[in-house]
Formats: sequence, C-alpha cells, structure tokens
Amino acid sequence: MRKNIVAGNWKMNNGLSQTQALISDLKKQVQTSEAEVMIAPSFTNLWPAFESLRQDTIEVIAQNMHFANNGAFTGEVSAGMLKSIGIKTVILGHSERRAYFNETDESLAKKVDAALVNKMRVIFCFGEELADRKAGKEEAVVESQIKNALFHLKEEDFQNIVLAYEPVWAIGTGETASPEQAQDMHAFIRKTLADKYGTDIANEVSILYGGSVKPANAREIFSKPDVDGGLIGGASLNAEDFFAIVNAF
Ligand code: 13P
Repeated sequence: MRKNIVAGNWKMNNGLSQTQALISDLKKQVQTSEAEVMIAPSFTNLWPAFESLRQDTIEVIAQNMHFANNGAFTGEVSAGMLKSIGIKTVILGHSERRAYFNETDESLAKKVDAALVNKMRVIFCFGEELADRKAGKEEAVVESQIKNALFHLKEEDFQNIVLAYEPVWAIGTGETASPEQAQDMHAFIRKTLADKYGTDIANEVSILYGGSVKPANAREIFSKPDVDGGLIGGASLNAEDFFAIVNAF
C-alpha cells in the first residue's frame, strides 16, 4: 500500500528562534490521520530541527542537495553531509530551483542518483507552467520531466521515490489546481509510470500535489484516488494550518 504523506516545504523562511517556536507549536498539534508528516527547514536549521524532533514522528527533510559527494563546490551541501546529521529524505527539482538556480532534467537525474546511492528517499518535484497549460501541453511537459530525470532508474529504485506534481501557476499564487485537474494529472503520471515499469510499481508510488494547498481545500484534493498527499508551502509555516491539512486525510 502506498503511503499518504504531507510535507511542509518551509523554503527560505524562519531563522533559528522561529524554527524552534514553530516546532514547539507543531508538537502541540494532535494528529488524527495516518499520513507521514515531514518538514523541510533551511539547511542552517536542519540539525536543530532534527534534534528537537528526534523522539517525534515528524520527519525532518532537506529542500535540496548537490550531486557530488564532496569537493570544490562552494556553497553546496551533499547527500553524505545530510546523512551525517540523520536526514534521510530530500526534495529535488522544485520549480523554484529549476527557475532560479538553473536546475535541469540532466542535473536532476544526477541528484536523484546521488540520493539513491546514499540510500536517501527523494521527493521529486515537477509541473508545467501556465503557458504550457494554456497551450494544452501540460501532459507533454510533465511526461518529459519525469522521463528525463527518472526513467533511467531500476524498478527497485522506486521504493525510494515519491513524486510531487506542482503546477508552477499554482505555487504561492493562491490559485489551486481544481481537485479534478489534480486527479487527471496524477492519473496521467501513474499511467506514465505504469507504461514503463508496470502497474505494480506505479500503484506503489506516492504522488503528492503541491500548489496553494490550504485547510479549506485540502480535504477535497486529498479525497481524489491518485492524490496521496501534499507538498505544502505557505500554509506549512503555521502549525495549526499545517495540521489541519495533515488531518484532512
Ligand atoms: P504554496 O503552498 O505556498 O503554494 O507552495 C507550494 C510549494 O511550492 C511546495 O513545495
């Protein structure tokens, strides 16, 4: 059975004291759903967050990493470094990384490989831009993003891959894909996986939706059969809102 997951992507928000305050608020929340819960603070706050949540079920995950193990890559962080502080999951390919930091399908394929070699789990993000959707190209764009970065993987690698469909036009805009739009795309993604790897594998991979998920719309989006959870930006910066979304399952 594939897992339901709700992950909070804090992006470049929260210094140390804000991180500690938000984690303390998160610990006060009551979870009624069986979803796996994750938060992704910035690199500087990964270790304090990990220490504070050591005894908790909330997993602390990273927002990015480099594909090399070590070396002359000023400003970068490797899978080995993340693992050395206990981090086991990394978000890769977020549209903000693609748009502002020149990440490509090619560099992402290398990052995915590096994470898997290091036995880390990957939340792999992709999604079309508004112009793609207006041109009716959303499926073609999503299909090529998945194929180019993931289709060199072996079947067993998918045990450590979670997919996150994040239409760029819905990120931080208040504009959400309708539950039907999300379901249609998630079903297409699962079919794309099934065509290459078979239905058994496709049915085991969790596919998250991201883009303006809020307490008010989470339940309807999560009720769709191919939506296995969410990657939450803005609403994950408030403990009550975040847990309202977690409990929407
Ligand atoms: P928002 O929830 O703020 O739209 O961000 C979504 C996102 O980018 C999560 O990775």
